[in-house]
Amino acid sequence: LHLGVTEAGDGEDGRIKSAIGIGTLLEDGIGDTIRVSLTEDPEFEIPVCKDLVKKYNQSAPDADDTILPEDKLWYNPFEYKRRLTEPVMNIGGTHVPVVFADFMQAKEVSREALNAIGYTYQADTDKWHIGDAAADILYTHKKTVSFSLPGTLKVVCDASVWSPELENHYPLYTQQEYAEGNITDGLHFVACDVSGDFTRMLELVANHKQAVVCLYATDPNSMQRVRSCINTMMGMRISNPVILAVESQHATIDEQLIHFSVQAGALLLEGMGDGIWLMNDPAKIMNSQVSGRTYLPVENNHQFLNQTSFSILQATRTRISKTEYISCPSCGRTLFDLQETTAKIRRVTNHLKGLKIAIMGCIVNGPGEMADADFGYVGSGPGKITLYKGKEVVKRNINSDVAVNELINILKENNVWIEPTVTVGS
Ligand code: SF4
Repeated sequence: LHLGVTEAGDGEDGRIKSAIGIGTLLEDGIGDTIRVSLTEDPEFEIPVCKDLVKKYNQSAPDADDTILPEDKLWYNPFEYKRRLTEPVMNIGGTHVPVVFADFMQAKEVSREALNAIGYTYQADTDKWHIGDAAADILYTHKKTVSFSLPGTLKVVCDASVWSPELENHYPLYTQQEYAEGNITDGLHFVACDVSGDFTRMLELVANHKQAVVCLYATDPNSMQRVRSCINTMMGMRISNPVILAVESQHATIDEQLIHFSVQAGALLLEGMGDGIWLMNDPAKIMNSQVSGRTYLPVENNHQFLNQTSFSILQATRTRISKTEYISCPSCGRTLFDLQETTAKIRRVTNHLKGLKIAIMGCIVNGPGEMADADFGYVGSGPGKITLYKGKEVVKRNINSDVAVNELINILKENNVWIEPTVTVGS
């Protein structure tokens, strides 16, 4: 069986969408060959393929690593339905999945450091500017934050350093601390390693309606173990929200991007997960930038993890924080420079959060493969472009030199255009 994700686009988003689509099935043992199709030169597709299949080329797991079959599945793996949870503050229920920023390794937390996770402090007005991809929860390990934080950012610190007097701070308990009792009545988090027996932990959590469970596992079957635990929670009618905690020990940013996408994406596509918490050890990473074309600046590890979290949520359509691009990989039918045009359209529309724009190389297959794009830019002859609104043609065979401006005009006519407030593009 051959697996591929077509129209994945380019850059980080193209890699993440491909990894989630293909990797989710590979994780379940489905798929014998794969192809990653990016709107980039073909040589950039192969490393992504190699990173994706690397894990499955290793020998079969030891008997100890196998997970017993479930007696019953409490979710339907053939359709998307989000797991029902009781919200705790803005986590779970119908709230979009929250994003954790892991500052465990940071020596301190400063206002400037929050730039990397979407918050810019403006000293002259003493106000915060909050970006579209701003993290919701700051995990500080044993540190506390003494300056005033933006209202949308909560601090989670270890229960051993937490006290109720700390404003906007919430405790994270270990399994052992949780079993010992003395748990706060308010919002709190509990870290649960599901590599071992988790039944006792779930029984405890069931008695704490304000508990948010952070699930992780430390073996090659970590996604399956977390899925098994959530299935058990569903069977036990435990409706506490769950945070998907995924760690990567991979040596390159490219491999980490793939690992995070597959492990978290596979669960989000099952409707599981009310938040995402990506973590790594920056000292072990050999490169700092994703290979091939990139759109997102990566000035430090916090920024990489934050952007990857939001991109995974965007790719699984569980939380939209930016413009969505659907573009074909191009082929012999392509009637214009697809890569250059895609980059150009991105530059002028990348501030239109939530809008879905398709950029397709030909009129033969392009319109049918635009999926659920709101607007389409499709090659219809040498130097000619046809523009779509949904599946309907709105401008036919216009010259390609004016087509991007015409697309903007159509966005304006449909009241979805917003003038950029900052310089767009990179
Ligand atoms: S140019 Fe047409 S046929 Fe070729 S990849 Fe793009 S949409 Fe598909």
